[in-house]
Amino acid sequence: MPKNISKEKSINRAKTTVELVVCAIILGTSVFLGKSCFDRIKVVPSTNKEATKIEDIEIPDASDVVDPNKIVFAATPISTKLKFSGNLILVNNDNQYYSTGNENLVSIMEKNDETGRSSFIAVDYDYTILEQVYEPLAKMVDDWYDIYFNDTLIVYGSYRSNEFQQQLYDQFTDNTSNDGEAPIVARPGFSEHETGYALDFSETAGYDYQGTGDFLWLNQNCHKYGFVIRYAEDKEDITEYRYEPWHFRYVGIPHAKYMTEQNLCLEEYIELLRTSYNYNGEHLKVSDEYGALYEIYFYPSDDAAEFTNVPVPTGVKYDISGNNVDGFIVTVHVNEKTEIGNENLSVTTSPYSFAATTAADSSAETTDSTTETTIAY
Ligand SMILES: [Zn+2]
Repeated sequence: MPKNISKEKSINRAKTTVELVVCAIILGTSVFLGKSCFDRIKVVPSTNKEATKIEDIEIPDASDVVDPNKIVFAATPISTKLKFSGNLILVNNDNQYYSTGNENLVSIMEKNDETGRSSFIAVDYDYTILEQVYEPLAKMVDDWYDIYFNDTLIVYGSYRSNEFQQQLYDQFTDNTSNDGEAPIVARPGFSEHETGYALDFSETAGYDYQGTGDFLWLNQNCHKYGFVIRYAEDKEDITEYRYEPWHFRYVGIPHAKYMTEQNLCLEEYIELLRTSYNYNGEHLKVSDEYGALYEIYFYPSDDAAEFTNVPVPTGVKYDISGNNVDGFIVTVHVNEKTEIGNENLSVTTSPYSFAATTAADSSAETTDSTTETTIAY
């Protein structure tokens, strides 16, 4: 029996050993599988954890930083009369130009001499333009000249006094029968040439600039310098002028760029700003090809008051122009930070311009004008 028992025992022991070995194998395999599975599980959430971590770090970081592009506006009193001045004034058959009698004019030829330029000429030294328009004009023509080496461009129309516009108008109406077509010479008081912001080009040989050939570049690229072709072929119904490929009007770079891209004439652009980009609503955002960002909005003039409180940015440069209709257009130079009190870039708000008078009393003021840079026409 004991033998049998011990035999049975040894069989049982062997069984147990086999069972143990099998168990060990199963356990080992399970542990291995379990571990690799665990490892795999561990990898997935750890990646997630990491991603969450980055997000968690980024969100508070971003909210901690004060938005550097946030512009703070403050109302500043602007002489209400200045709605008749500035690079965005609309002058056409319905909107008369009220001369200050103190336009800051420079002789184009004198400036050419001073700056050593010979890429273009004006008819003579009496041809003047607003000082702020000269550089953009000269830069545009220089860049064009560097491509075509064409020295036949001439400025044959620029600033005109009201009296000279009258002469031209009389001459034109005497010599032409009324053919029902849009005018080619504006009534005195209604010509952009009286503002000093407009100029006409000619080819030296023949006064017939068409903006074609070498000159096409000027008509296609003028917006980069702040100019628009004021009387476009497809806008005759709105401008009430025939196509004038030679007539360039300075409005400023962001405005010229937007108008050109959107195919808007000045009438349409001024209307768009008045109706869709009021200060209290959305502002128009324009970026130019030089990387500058602009924010543009309209603010109505308070015609009953001497001053209009126009909201303007603080610590950021801006310029302001009247629209010659019913208010002001503020152009914020978003990337140009500056000291407080130093923001206003516009020529129209200089003390010189604050003496601006309307057409009704400008003749009385003219004799008082002692501005040395002004050249009488
Ligand atoms: Zn013209």
